[in-house]
Amino acid sequence: MAEETIFSKIIRGEAPADILYQDELVTAFRDIRPQAPTHILIVPNRPIPTANDVTPEDEPALGRMFTVAAKLARQEGIADDGYRLLVNCGRHGGQEVYHLHMHLIGGRPLGPMLA
Ligand code: 5GP
Repeated sequence: MAEETIFSKIIRGEAPADILYQDELVTAFRDIRPQAPTHILIVPNRPIPTANDVTPEDEPALGRMFTVAAKLARQEGIADDGYRLLVNCGRHGGQEVYHLHMHLIGGRPLGPMLA
């Protein structure tokens, strides 16, 4: 079993975070090092390490991540101008925390994506 990350502690309320949304499948909280005026992480409550590890059983949580992203984008007032949804996977993908998460980034023009 993969080692637990800080995100599991945040989900359980055992580590501090600015939680914006939580239900039985997913949790959303503000990124501690925001790259834009809005930078939110949306994570499945089940600690899936990377995008390589998703299974059909995770599909409800993965779908919920998108509906929560759309809801939070509206709530943040960035839906009309647009935003970026991003999932990093593994070393080359620049993944830092090995608990799958979707970045919701917006509030300014983001420019081209490739870094
Ligand atoms: P990754 O590079 O894995 O896709 O992104 C991990 C993100 O998690 C980074 O943007 C980083 O700032 C954020 N992060 C890392 N540790 C914490 C933490 O303890 N709390 C919060 N809220 N965000 C974190």
